[in-house]
Amino acid sequence: MSAYAGAGAGGGHGRAVVIGAGLAGLTAARALAGFMDHVTVIERDWVPSGPGRRPGVPQARHTHVLVPAAHQGLERLFPGIGQDLAAAGAVRVTVPKDMLVLGPGGWLPRFDAGLPLLCAGRDLIDAVVRARLRADPKVDFLPGHEAVALRGGRHDTVTGVWIRGRDRTAPDSRGGPGVRRLLPAEFVVDASGRGSQASRWLAELGYGQPPLSVAAAPAAFATAVFAPPVGHVADWKSLLLMAAPGHPRQGVLHPVEGGRWSVTLTAAGTARPPAGHAGLLHAARALRHPLLHDVLEAATPLGPVYGCTRAGVRWHRYEKLRRWPDQFLVVGDALADLDAAGGQGMALAVRCALALEQLLAGHGTAVGISHRLRHALAREVAPAWRTARRTPGTAHPPHAPNTPGTAGTWDTAGTAAADRQAAAASQDGPPRPPLTARYTAWYAARVAAAATTDPYAATLLLRTLHAPGTPPAPAAALRPRALRAALRTPRGPAPYAPPSTTHGPDAPRRRTAPAPARPVPAGAPRPAAPAPAAAPAGERRRP
Ligand SMILES: Cc1cc2nc3c(=O)[nH]c(=O)nc-3n(C[C@H](O)[C@H](O)[C@H](O)COP(=O)(O)OP(=O)(O)OC[C@H]3O[C@@H](n4cnc5c(N)ncnc54)[C@H](O)[C@@H]3O)c2cc1C
Repeated sequence: MSAYAGAGAGGGHGRAVVIGAGLAGLTAARALAGFMDHVTVIERDWVPSGPGRRPGVPQARHTHVLVPAAHQGLERLFPGIGQDLAAAGAVRVTVPKDMLVLGPGGWLPRFDAGLPLLCAGRDLIDAVVRARLRADPKVDFLPGHEAVALRGGRHDTVTGVWIRGRDRTAPDSRGGPGVRRLLPAEFVVDASGRGSQASRWLAELGYGQPPLSVAAAPAAFATAVFAPPVGHVADWKSLLLMAAPGHPRQGVLHPVEGGRWSVTLTAAGTARPPAGHAGLLHAARALRHPLLHDVLEAATPLGPVYGCTRAGVRWHRYEKLRRWPDQFLVVGDALADLDAAGGQGMALAVRCALALEQLLAGHGTAVGISHRLRHALAREVAPAWRTARRTPGTAHPPHAPNTPGTAGTWDTAGTAAADRQAAAASQDGPPRPPLTARYTAWYAARVAAAATTDPYAATLLLRTLHAPGTPPAPAAALRPRALRAALRTPRGPAPYAPPSTTHGPDAPRRRTAPAPARPVPAGAPRPAAPAPAAAPAGERRRP
């Protein structure tokens, strides 16, 4: 039951209602709590007190990392939350010092690029943020209730949310399930995720439909959690085997709470994700390097393999609507579903909350700021959107290698062959991209090649993945230092084995001869394959 005593009971700003208790809803609630008298977060699901799994956030089963913008922003909203996350088991990974990264041009050197990641299960991240919010007396949760419509007020305003109880056991389910009731509010935030009904609700109030920017980038994800092999020793914490032109598959391994590994394989295209651990291992073997497969082969699966597919990325261009109700805002995935863009979803949620906090503080009232807010949020979305929507072949962000893939099952036998097949299936072959796209692809390939030896180029590459827009990527990529690195001819083929003392060329027990990290030009000397090492009999194999 809400502890709110009505508008005017606090500082006079009234009540805010946030729809959805995902990360965007939790962080928006935090921003509003600093300003409004009371904040009610309504959530369709139950709201667990710990890291419980919820049907409303099915993507929580997949590997989630907090990129720098996400965890630094969380720290501003909830000072000390980094320590809370670490105490709960989140692991800090310094990229690429603690991470073996096979970039499109080969293995990246190990150094601190100033891009720390926080790795933890998504349920744990939400639980730690929720715990901080629950401690705020201005905030209450209304679980088991869903928003079904907005109430419009006079002079283009939103003055409340129509809600409906989902089950009889839900607290405060007055009127029983299915009965609509009104939750009056002075400010409403829709943070209901990618299934948001905001544009329908607005249409019901007589507003126009916003343009929808869509970039088709179909991708399939398969995720499983593993316990590392007994006695596992490694000089790395994470692995990232990126996609490359002609090879649209990627694999990532991150440490999560409880000493476990969360592993996600991604394939661009409409392929179905592999089912079962045998399928996952098979798919891992088809990546550009066998390291992830070898590591997983010796690890213990701790649960099923979860799969999901995405058709592309979407951005509801609410900032383009000329008529818009005041005291209403859409944030997070409900605004822009960039999940395929590689770790940007939670960062966007946090950025939306920070923009909201800043405008509320600067303006001194929640009334009359919706226009500025919509435009501020559009500016937050734009850099990540540019990364997400790049045309096929020009970029390879970590969770969406944007190279065309194939329909049907996940091709594990030979991805390059599958891509050739797909191209041959169309009589004219793939359409020729415009000159600028071809130039960008060429330049990206040069930066990727330089990244194998040049830390500056490696940082540029990693920034596109983990921090798009900071500083603006095109400007950074055209600085003289970047141009020099990109135009310098790489000396010889890319490093063949990972730069690791435990899993590199000198590692005592490498089992499989790795495939070349990038095509070796004709006539160039081929590096020798490391000799396979047999696992000692009677001992559990260590990759
Ligand atoms: C495979 C995969 C991997 C990803 N990896 C990363 C990653 O590494 N890093 C990263 O930052 N992001 C990642 N993402 C994206 C990230 O999961 C999302 O961007 C993030 O969850 C968005 O948060 P949100 O709060 O906007 O939406 P959600 O987390 O989806 O929350 C929406 C909430 O609203 C509730 N709700 C919905 N409708 C209603 C209603 N009508 N009334 C009341 N409540 C409602 C839902 O139950 C849910 O709790 C990944 C996504 C996928 C698919």
